[in-house]
Amino acid sequence: MSEIDLKAYIRDVPDFPKPGILFRDITPLLANPHVFNEAIDQMAAHYEGKQIDAIVAAEARGFIFAAPLALRLNCGFVPVRKPGKLPFDTHSFHYELEYGSDTLEIHIDGVQPGQNVLMVDDLLATGGTMKACCNLVEKIGANVVGCCFLIHLKALEGEQRIAPFESFSLIDY
Ligand code: AMP
Repeated sequence: MSEIDLKAYIRDVPDFPKPGILFRDITPLLANPHVFNEAIDQMAAHYEGKQIDAIVAAEARGFIFAAPLALRLNCGFVPVRKPGKLPFDTHSFHYELEYGSDTLEIHIDGVQPGQNVLMVDDLLATGGTMKACCNLVEKIGANVVGCCFLIHLKALEGEQRIAPFESFSLIDY
């Protein structure tokens, strides 16, 4: 077991980006190569031995963990981006959030039917974004093998929203 306390490298910023939100800032963790590496190691260890063909993550902070994890697991990395950012043909998906709605895009050849896909993001809050990404991947005909997060805000019950897909996180609040 590692001696590194990952939570000690998360900075709490009250009232960002608006009053009442306690923002969990991951930049101190990213700034320390030993700690960042340990986080990726722990994520990789959880999925060791599982057949994973691709990792899907939404911009921007999901990319930070998805790319090194894809290299560790020896699988591809497929980006999900805001509208108009991906250069090739895309599937576009619109989804509802707590307040308002959002649209994301993925390349039509990013994920293939039948592939086993691991979903990654920095933080699980309400699960709205992740649930929408999982639904898209399943609609393409691929299998979601799990959802991996650095941080899980348990009080918001995002895990239940994502179910039946499995969620795994390294730091819980
Ligand atoms: P949700 O769709 O509600 O699960 O929101 C997840 C996304 O919002 C994550 O990708 C986070 O980057 C961001 N997010 C939500 N709440 C927080 C928070 N308290 N601190 C930092 N990031 C957050």
